[in-house]
Amino acid sequence: MKLTFLGTSASKPTKERNVSALALEFDQDNKWYLFDCGEATQHQLLKSYLSVSKLNTIFITHLHGDHYYGLPGLLSSKTLDDSLSTLSIYGPLGIKKFLQCSVGISEEKLGYKLDIIEFKSGDEFKFDKFSLKVLPLVHSIESFAFYIKEDDITNKINEEKLRALGIKPSALYGELKRGKRVEFNSQILEPKEFMLKPVPGRRLIIAGDNSQPEILDDYLKELDLLVHECTYTQEVYDNLPVKFMHTTAKDLGSTAQKMRVKNLIANHINPRFNKNSDMDIDVVYNEIKQKYKGKLFIANDFDVYELNRNALIKKLKHKGSLSSSSAIILD
Ligand SMILES: [Zn+2]
Ligand SMILES: [Zn+2]
Repeated sequence: MKLTFLGTSASKPTKERNVSALALEFDQDNKWYLFDCGEATQHQLLKSYLSVSKLNTIFITHLHGDHYYGLPGLLSSKTLDDSLSTLSIYGPLGIKKFLQCSVGISEEKLGYKLDIIEFKSGDEFKFDKFSLKVLPLVHSIESFAFYIKEDDITNKINEEKLRALGIKPSALYGELKRGKRVEFNSQILEPKEFMLKPVPGRRLIIAGDNSQPEILDDYLKELDLLVHECTYTQEVYDNLPVKFMHTTAKDLGSTAQKMRVKNLIANHINPRFNKNSDMDIDVVYNEIKQKYKGKLFIANDFDVYELNRNALIKKLKHKGSLSSSSAIILD
């Protein structure tokens, strides 16, 4: 499973970071999923190895501009690129009106089927390789997290055991996988005796803007990866003249540690934390780390992470043309 961060800035783009967008790919799949689509996400895609023609579904966490203003441009370009596969968009109430207005007013003929699904808190959806549940967050407008549970692998056959009986890979393997009893050398083989234990699917949360990470507590146990905003350090937040409803590094670290989250990737970074300021991103990292002892990354634009089935996460770096085959493991 691979996550590609296409935008990691909070509220507005900077020279280092674009606004929110994150791509998710499952193993051995020929499509990918987009979480949030801030302005200029399509430009970010041009610099990545991802192709719009393989984009299957878009999920929008909430209707603040930095999370969805990139939709009309992306939808329009998809038509011009002759990418005519169906696209689904899941978003909160209002997403339909926004798209009907922005696409409709320019009399855009998309040329492909656009499915728009407005969800509410608690809704669950089933996809090709995973299920997704919509969880409520605490923000200045309705905002949501997506709890993603990859399907367990349940049809792995015990080849070793079959070979030991002298049965080589054949159509018989398929019959057993499908749960059928099979006769071999006048012996009846029961399918359940030849199936391996199910391999559990990975669990992750991709959260939108949120001021109270602990609202996710019930879902953080057993979680393989949490992707959560971390807009401020505590000191910066305490000195804000007007408070915005976002998470501080201290609160995020405390919650992740309390719930023993295995891996944490923080994103949605306030523009004041940048290379040219005296507060670079290390300040955010160190504040989370003071509380949280698990594996932590602060996402940068174009970071690619691979989460394996043992909940180990690796940051990949792409050489040259950003083709997925040239990925090397960094950390
Ligand atoms: Zn935001
Ligand atoms: Zn927001």
